[in-house]
Order: sequence, then structure tokens, then C-alpha cells
Amino acid sequence: MTKLTLGVSSCLLGDEVRFNGGHKHHRWLTHTFGQYADFVPYCPEVAIGMGIPRNPIRLISTDTGTRAVDSMNLTDDYTERLQHYAESIVPQLDALDGYVVMQGSPSCGMERVKLYNKNMIPEKIAAGLYTGVLQRHAPAIPFEESGRLSDPNLVENFVQRVYVYHDWRTRQPWRTAKELIDFHARQKYLLMMHDYPTYKRLGQKLSNLKDIDNRGAFGQAYLVELMAALSNIPKRGHRVNVLQHVMGYFKNQLSEKEKASLIHSIEQYQASEVPFIVPVALLKHYIFLHGDQFPYLMNQTFLNPYPEELGLRNPI
Ligand code: SF4
Repeated sequence: MTKLTLGVSSCLLGDEVRFNGGHKHHRWLTHTFGQYADFVPYCPEVAIGMGIPRNPIRLISTDTGTRAVDSMNLTDDYTERLQHYAESIVPQLDALDGYVVMQGSPSCGMERVKLYNKNMIPEKIAAGLYTGVLQRHAPAIPFEESGRLSDPNLVENFVQRVYVYHDWRTRQPWRTAKELIDFHARQKYLLMMHDYPTYKRLGQKLSNLKDIDNRGAFGQAYLVELMAALSNIPKRGHRVNVLQHVMGYFKNQLSEKEKASLIHSIEQYQASEVPFIVPVALLKHYIFLHGDQFPYLMNQTFLNPYPEELGLRNPI
């Protein structure tokens, strides 16, 4: 797996760029994930010329839409400057595999940022002004907030999406419909696990794809749908379903003992007695032993979604 490139809120890397001159260093990002990714830091508030230290800003709801203003002096309005800066960054997203933002920030937050009403009562309902612009322009790129990375299911899901997106991004442009179909084929079991209806729907669309089709427009629409589906956290039953599907693919190659041990392992997972990694590891072992006849299986992202050393495959 080649190295990733991620956008990151500068303060998460330890840069002292916050309104109070501090940082929000995220150790997992820099010490663990940083072994697999190069980071491109962005601090929109510093980039538009707000100093360090500075008054914090807040989002307020007005008749003309959401505004980002100085929380000490509401007439100091940074809305247009933040939006223009965000728009200037959009072309750079083409070189990124994902983006990690600082939670709760009126500029960088991804969701549940405080939005103040006319009476200055806050509700956590908005996206940060800067991140909101980026996400509208690039709906497929994986975004995640720093706070959510401490949830095992969410961090696993984010890293997985980042690697799928990286696979897509680094293979551009598609020269033939077959290349796009091959990409989709590699995601088959992963997508089946995350969102079965989308797995069926996208498979149908790709089966009708001809070389003369406009792959650029088709590809973007496909990618948005795929990435949205992969952001669903799969339930235990969906994971079991995929394990059984993959096993069924090469069960005739297994001895009775091997088959029994694999079925037992899947049942143990189903009964919450062992983590997901246990039947997956056994499945991978048997595929390694017998799967040379099934290159299709060996290439499945489901089996190797990200470097094992990240140790993420333990959720439910
Ligand atoms: S949250 Fe965003 S704007 Fe605020 S200090 Fe961090 S990078 Fe800068």
C-alpha cells in the first residue's frame, strides 16, 4: 500500500495556531496514522490573516444565512474571507485521500458545530464554514472529525474509506470501462457488507457500462454513491453474511476439518464470543492456502482494507 496524503487542521498536528495560541495535538494521527500518511496542514483562520492570539469566532444564524463573526465584536464578520479561502483550497483536494478536521470549530468542524440564533442561544447543528464549503465541492472525499477518531468503529470506517478513495484517486484517469469495472469488483464484498442495496444498484449500473460511455461523469456519480455507502457502519449480521459468502466461494477447496473450523469461528463471532478479526484471519489463512485459483478473492479490499499493523479490525 502506498503512502496516503491527508489534509488536516493544523492545530491537530501540534501547530500553535488556535485563537488562544495553543494547539490540539492528536497523538494517534501523528504517531500511528502518520506512519502511513503525509499530512497537508490547513488553518483557515490564520490563512485569512486573523492573528495568534485572536478573539474566537462563532457562527450565527441571520436572515442572510450563516455568518462567522468575532464572538467579542459581532460586527467583525469573517464569512466571505473564510468562504473565499475555502474555495481557493478546493483544487488542492484532488491531491488528497481524506481530511481530518478539528471538532466543534466554527471554521473546521464537520458537524454539530454551535450555531447561535438571534437570541444568542447555541444549538449544535452546523458544519464549520470552511469545511462546509470543501464538503459541498468534494462530496466523495472522506472527512472525519478528531473527536470521532476515538470511537473504534468510526476510526476503522474512516481509515477504510480513505484507502478505497486512495485506490480510486491514484488510478485516475480510467482509460476503459473495464478498469472501472475491475475497481468495483475489488470492492464487492466490502460494499456488500456496508450497504447491500447500493451493492446491487451499482453492480447493475456497471453491468450496463460501455466503453463509449462518458466515464468521467459516470465515475464521479459512482464514487459519491460508493463512498456514502461505505460510511455506513456494518451490523454484525451483515458482516456474518459476507464471511459466509466469501467462504462459499472456495468451500470446495477446503477439507471437512477446515470447513468446520471456519464455520465455528464465524458462529463464535456471531455469538459475540470473538472479535471480527478472528474469522477474517482464518478466512485469509485458507484463502492464502487455496486461493491461488481465485485471484478475484485475493484482490478483495474486504480482506486487506488497510495495513494490519494499524490494528483496527476489532470493532463489534
Ligand atoms: S480548528 Fe481550524 S481554524 Fe481553528 S486553529 Fe485549528 S486549524 Fe485553525
